[in-house]
Amino acid sequence: MKCLLCNALIKWHPPIRDLLSLKALRSPRLCKNCRSRFIPLAGGKGCPGCQRQGFNQICPECQAWQERVGFCLSVRACFSYNEAMKEFMHAYKFAGDYRLHQAFSFELTALVKESGAEVVIPLPLHPATQKERGFNQVKGLLECQYQSLLITKDQEKPRPQSVKNRQERLATPQPFRLLSSNKVAGKSVVLVDDVFTTGRTMYHAAELIKDAGCKTICGVTLAN
Ligand SMILES: [Zn+2]
Ligand SMILES: [Zn+2]
Repeated sequence: MKCLLCNALIKWHPPIRDLLSLKALRSPRLCKNCRSRFIPLAGGKGCPGCQRQGFNQICPECQAWQERVGFCLSVRACFSYNEAMKEFMHAYKFAGDYRLHQAFSFELTALVKESGAEVVIPLPLHPATQKERGFNQVKGLLECQYQSLLITKDQEKPRPQSVKNRQERLATPQPFRLLSSNKVAGKSVVLVDDVFTTGRTMYHAAELIKDAGCKTICGVTLAN
């Protein structure tokens, strides 16, 4: 197996205890060198809402969300959004290298499963973006069952979040529509996205699901 990022050969021997157990074996997709550039956020440290490091209670941004929309969403992330992650996202999303979906799908799927939610909903792309890219990067990272219950409203293709400034991002109108309220009513739901930045996208989605009467809602992202 070669490293997905640098092409170095990965020497991997599954630990004996894994060989003896019945769990599925999975060789690493990144070499040790590449892997060491990504910083895991496991353990749920940081702000209980968004996991921003350096806080042990609700951070000012999550407080602002509480005031803006009336609730604070708990969003967990696998990794910190550092330089390495930015480069990775660029190669995966913007350069459209679909092979890279395997690099972190195991980690993201594990965190989604840990949420224990009954319904897994990946955030959708605008159809034009999806067509351009050829795939939805969030779905590509999921190795578990999910339901595409959110769609992007038929509207002009918005400028990507990444070229907007912070104020513009926060002011974005509701971009999504929920296809079926019945499928989320009374259920525990987890929303999945690739990166959590201002939280606007995630909160838009969460507002729709909450209005439909879900039991609980939380979020999981690859990076924050
Ligand atoms: Zn590598
Ligand atoms: Zn926070």
